[in-house]
Amino acid sequence: MALVVVGSVAYDGVETPHGKVDRMLGGAATYISLAASHFTPVKLVAVVGDDFAPEDAGLLAARGIGLAGLERVAGGKCFFWSGVYSADMNERTTLRTDLNVFADFHPKLPDSYRAEPYLFLGNIQPALQKSVRAQMTAVRLAGGDTMNYWIADFRAELLETLREWDFLLINDAEARLLSGESNLRRAAAKILEMGPHTLIVKRGEYGAVLFRKAGGTIGHFMAPGYLLESVFDPTGAGDCFAGGFMGCLAGRGARLSAEDLDFADLRRAVIYGSVMGSFCCERFGVDRFRTLTREDIEARYREFQACTAF
Ligand code: AMP
Repeated sequence: MALVVVGSVAYDGVETPHGKVDRMLGGAATYISLAASHFTPVKLVAVVGDDFAPEDAGLLAARGIGLAGLERVAGGKCFFWSGVYSADMNERTTLRTDLNVFADFHPKLPDSYRAEPYLFLGNIQPALQKSVRAQMTAVRLAGGDTMNYWIADFRAELLETLREWDFLLINDAEARLLSGESNLRRAAAKILEMGPHTLIVKRGEYGAVLFRKAGGTIGHFMAPGYLLESVFDPTGAGDCFAGGFMGCLAGRGARLSAEDLDFADLRRAVIYGSVMGSFCCERFGVDRFRTLTREDIEARYREFQACTAF
């Protein structure tokens, strides 16, 4: 049973204290799909121009990622984003965002995608996320992420979209912006009134907190970030967290309703999310995914268990 992933496939320019790459494969849906593909079959929905390199399509195909929903616009150019990181890599400044073919992206799911049970809606305009959700006929578990721009300027549209999601995955600043609450626990309680029964708040290198509403009460689970010896490029780490989290749930056949979803499955999914986010930072762009194996993933998962048990 496959996971459908919607979002950006892009070229990125990235500068960190460890180096600079002018143009390399990126995009939220790229990272999400690569990470999730270690756990479950993935079908990608995105748009690219005719500058999309065959070797980049080849990397996705080599991971078994379905590309029937990857629309190619003749004469168009891929979405391009570039950014520079601060010395500690906790701050990122966007230098350039060229939407190119992404500006007219109206995702249309191939028939072969529509009956899949799992859906991850990457960070695109909320109305488009809603339209993709509406094209799916048998969703068991759907969720996604968003960003400050949509929260601030497309609030009504976003709230309508969120109503149909099982989970939302955002960072702490976005959770505060969305809820209007500075206290994270109160922010989570408000967001869990908006539709999703599960909220994952990403906290960068400090890990993530999962909140889940079931039977009228809210439980939470806190996972630290994996302590890497060196971080080369954090770009895509949040997306890889999303891919690991959702891929893990899809791979285990998790079911839709809050009551059916086992909290232990959710906790495991958060740890796999952290594991995948950590691998992403070890090399520039998607490079770590060229060699990563399931054995590497399981070894780090066990290390995580060992260093958080008490
Ligand atoms: P993350 O570091 O997890 O926030 O993800 C970074 C990735 O998101 C990069 O590969 C970018 O190509 C992509 N990205 C940046 N800005 C946007 C945007 N406005 N919409 C969609 N994707 C974006």
